[in-house]
Amino acid sequence: MKKLGFGLMRLPLSNYEDKGSIDMEQTCKMIDAYIERGFTYFDTAYPYHDGKSEEAFREAVAKRYPRDRYTITDKMPMFNRPSKEQMEAIFNEQLKRCGVEYFDYYLLHALNRDTFAFSEKVGAFEYVLKLKEQGKIKNIGISFHDSADVLENILANHPELDVVQLQINYLDWDNKNIQGKECYELCVKYNKPVIVMEPVKGGSLAAVPDEADKLLKEYDSKASAASWAVRYAASFDNVIMVLSGMSDMNQVLDNISYMDEFKPLNDEEHMVITKVTDIINNTTAIPCTKCNYCTSGCPMSIAIPDVFAIYNNLKRFPATKQARKEAYDRVINNNHGKASECVECMQCQEHCPQHIDITEWLKVIAKEFE
Ligand code: SF4
Ligand code: SF4
Repeated sequence: MKKLGFGLMRLPLSNYEDKGSIDMEQTCKMIDAYIERGFTYFDTAYPYHDGKSEEAFREAVAKRYPRDRYTITDKMPMFNRPSKEQMEAIFNEQLKRCGVEYFDYYLLHALNRDTFAFSEKVGAFEYVLKLKEQGKIKNIGISFHDSADVLENILANHPELDVVQLQINYLDWDNKNIQGKECYELCVKYNKPVIVMEPVKGGSLAAVPDEADKLLKEYDSKASAASWAVRYAASFDNVIMVLSGMSDMNQVLDNISYMDEFKPLNDEEHMVITKVTDIINNTTAIPCTKCNYCTSGCPMSIAIPDVFAIYNNLKRFPATKQARKEAYDRVINNNHGKASECVECMQCQEHCPQHIDITEWLKVIAKEFE
């Protein structure tokens, strides 16, 4: 299998404000371009695009290509705390939504200390193992967002897992909160192949600061910033797949241009990445990946990732304060709460895989823009 996976969580939209409004015409064209070049791997999940990602997969892939032309991964939303009966209903609904009779890979989604404890209690591992025995799942695994000690606890107790999906990107590799390096090394120790998510860190490594971009361009004037990030993740021996949440045709064409005949980063390229990492770390205020896990339960409808992105851009380009203020006002005028309206219920922070102190940053943002 070629190492580039099509993540179906950032598909093109016909209405920017409506995550369920997937532009199917554009999506089909992007998927055709990807499959035509011999790529096969798709990744979806129950909540992506407000529940519409799986249906988009069915319409664009399952109904248009024979089953042996693609590999599909789906996930059980353990953060929703499903009961045994609900897990069964969700799984059957997912098969229907995706239009398939089995999943090639099926993961317990977003395991951390809490969701792992819950998964044990509700028997989620036993449930997916039973589905594997019935042939409805070919490989079982987890997607993981927590510290290495939690991962080691899971891997030591669940030798039946076939794969682990991890967040690996050059910015987070040595990050003490994400612990990308430590988690990857544990997967090697327990002999678990790794699927990489967020190689471009929610798109933030596709548009790096000017100084960093200059370094990348000096080495290779044609390579995109995103290509460095995807190739970095794919260069690890134990990584079998790198997901990219592609949003337009240019991203698809760029990705397949360098992943068609993938070449791992060489030593010189690794040195460039080290310098770029230092530059980005010095200019990124909030390490948000725009995953949106924090937004659905916010009682004040605060557009957390949007206002974080605006603040990050302000810090990166301080001369653009007026434009950033206007962008902030536009978000608020679109029926979203102000940063200052946060009631500190903390539900968002429980869901943030980057462990961002959201409420504190909202105070900073309120002071800056309101
Ligand atoms: S802590 Fe603030 S931002 Fe987070 S969910 Fe509660 S109100 Fe929303
Ligand atoms: S604040 Fe955290 S949970 Fe919310 S979008 Fe950013 S990374 Fe995701």
